Amino acid sequence: MRYASHIADLVGNTPLVRLNAVTDGIRATVLAKVEYFNPGGSAKDRIARGIIDAAERDGLLKPGGTIVEPTSGNTGVGLALVALQRGYRMVFVVPDKFAGEKMAVLRAYGAEVVVTPTSVPPEHPDSYYSVSDRLAREIPGAFKPNQFANLNGPRGHYETTGPEVWRDTDGRVTHLVAGIGTGGTISGTGRFLKEASAGEVVVVGADPEGSIYSGGPLHGYLVEGVGEDFYPDTFDPAVVDRYERVSDAESFAMTRRLAREEGLLVGGSSGMAVVAALRTARTLPDDAVVVVVLPDHGRGYLSKLYDDTWLTAHGIPLTPSTGVSA
Ligand code: PMP
Repeated sequence: MRYASHIADLVGNTPLVRLNAVTDGIRATVLAKVEYFNPGGSAKDRIARGIIDAAERDGLLKPGGTIVEPTSGNTGVGLALVALQRGYRMVFVVPDKFAGEKMAVLRAYGAEVVVTPTSVPPEHPDSYYSVSDRLAREIPGAFKPNQFANLNGPRGHYETTGPEVWRDTDGRVTHLVAGIGTGGTISGTGRFLKEASAGEVVVVGADPEGSIYSGGPLHGYLVEGVGEDFYPDTFDPAVVDRYERVSDAESFAMTRRLAREEGLLVGGSSGMAVVAALRTARTLPDDAVVVVVLPDHGRGYLSKLYDDTWLTAHGIPLTPSTGVSA
């Protein structure tokens, strides 16, 4: 019989899928690493096991303990898969701007969800950060993974995502393109690929307009899960060769094209990364192999970027060909 002993054991080994329609006019091969094949639906599943293993090893998490983390979605799901396999209680602190479906998903996995106001500064006692710190202090046996500072995050990608890309391209990958949230994906995967290729692989960071990584003025944006207004410890800037700045309108137009033209129903950060990948690939010869990471599934965004009314309400105009202007 061939079976997994637990769903959490199926994390990783996601496929590479060639992009076809959206790469019209491009000679290089552009391959998407489709992370929604992970059992929790995102690349974040990869970091959960390493973070929890290390916490157990370091005595920070003991049987019957509680995992407390501020997360609006994907990290919570990844942690939940491992937590429920090992019998930990989960408390996730979520900002109210992510109310709705994502919260319902965390509750469906058996987590307790604490909602905090988005519109208060980080130092306010009711903020997402303050509340999770307080709960981690007050709940006996609580452990806070702190995904923005936990180096087991990038390590998870160094040990899994990087080797998978190298193996599945037979070492022919020439460029890696990924968005940056905590920076775990790009830092871990990029470092592995640079080492494996003796520095040949070029690493491109895709960044929303308004985020800190690509420079330029900081302001709000709509794409979720990527970009920051500070430099997290989990991000290693030395790994990134250059950045591509992508607007919300470009990201959402490409995300919707990926669903319609490639059959890839993915989140907005995937569309953003593909915009950066296509800009990168445009000038490359036909033996170049560009791998772009698509972090999560699109089902969590049906009432947002896939909804025409939501888009126009957020000032993003629609066009007949993509449903969104770019
Ligand atoms: N896209 C989405 C939808 C995410 O949830 C995340 C994680 N915050 C990322 C991209 C970026 O991944 P990382 O934190 O590894 O940089």
